[in-house]
Amino acid sequence: MILIDGAGLAEDILQEIRQEVDLMVSNGKKRPHLAAVLIGDNPASLSYVTNKVKSCETAGFKSTLIKRDGNFSENELAQLIEELNNDSEIDGYIVQLPLPRHIDADKILLLIDPKKDVDGFHPLNFGRMAQGLPAFLPATPSGILQMLERYKIETDGKHCVVIGRSNIVGNPMSILMARKGYPGNCTVTIVHSRTHNIDEIVRQADIVIAAIGIPKFVTSEMVKDGAVVIDVGINRIADTSTKSGFRLVGDVDFENVAPKCSFITPVPKGVGPMTVCALMINTLKASKSEIY
Ligand code: NAD
Repeated sequence: MILIDGAGLAEDILQEIRQEVDLMVSNGKKRPHLAAVLIGDNPASLSYVTNKVKSCETAGFKSTLIKRDGNFSENELAQLIEELNNDSEIDGYIVQLPLPRHIDADKILLLIDPKKDVDGFHPLNFGRMAQGLPAFLPATPSGILQMLERYKIETDGKHCVVIGRSNIVGNPMSILMARKGYPGNCTVTIVHSRTHNIDEIVRQADIVIAAIGIPKFVTSEMVKDGAVVIDVGINRIADTSTKSGFRLVGDVDFENVAPKCSFITPVPKGVGPMTVCALMINTLKASKSEIY
C-alpha cells in the first residue's frame, strides 16, 4: 500500500510555482494576486481561507483577505464582486463557501468574472471543462488529477466510482475522470444518496473517489483488493483527547481500508492541501492569461 502524501506533494508544487513567480518578477512581470472573500465566522471556512492565504505566501503571490460579518447583504456582496471584477490588480478571487443562508450562492457565483474565477465554479468554466475546452478546473478535482499524475497512477480503462454528486467535487470529478487523456479515460460510475446497492457498485471499482461528508462511510467490505482510494471528506468528530475537542476524519474508514489498497490518501494531509495547491495553479494561469 502506498500512502499518497498530499501535503508533501502540494509543498513541492508550491515551490515549483514560487520559482516560476520569482522568474516572472525578475523579468519585470507583476506578482500574481489572489483575493479571498470570507463572509461570516464559520470556523472551518476561516481555517480554509487562512490556509489559502498562507499558500499564497509560499508560492510568492500577493494575497488580499476580505472579511465581512455575517450580516453582509447579498447586494453588498454583489457590489464587492463588481469591484473585484474591475480591479486590474487582482488576477483571481474566490468567494469562500458556504455563504450565509440569506445569500443565494448560485446567484453570486454567476456574477464572478469567469476570467477571475480561479475556483472554477462559474457555469462558463464548468461548461468549458465538460466540453474539454481550456477552463479553470474546480480546485478539488483538479488537485486529485495532479495527485494521480504525480504518483503515476494508471487510469486508462479503469472503473472509477465517484461517491457524491456535488457541483464542486463529485459531479466535475466524474466528468474529468471520463475525459479523453491522462488522467482520465476511465469508465465512470457516479453514486449518490438515491443509489441502490452502493456497496456492490463500489466493490467493482479500481479507483474510488469518496466525496460525501459522512465519516468513515467507505468500509473495508466495500473496497476490492488493490483499489486506489481517494478520500475527499473532511469531517469533524468529537475527540476529548485533543485541544480543540475534535479531530478530522475522512469519508473512508482509513484504518481498515488502507491495508487493501494499492494507493490511498490520508485525512488530513491528503486531498485538502492539493485543493489549495490547485487554486494556486489556477491563479498563476489567470495572471498569465493562459485560459482566456
Ligand atoms: P455535498 O454535501 O455538497 O454533497 C454530498 C454528496 O454526497 C451529495 O451529492 C449526496 O448525494 C452524496 N451523499 C450524501 N449521503 C449519501 C449516502 N448516504 N450515500 C451516497 N451518497 C451520499 O458535499 P461536498 O461539498 O461535495 O463535500 C463532500 C465532502 O468533501 C465533505 O466532507 C466536505 O467537507 C469535503 N470537501 C473536501 C474538500 C477538500 O479539499 N478536501 C473540498 C470540498 C469538500
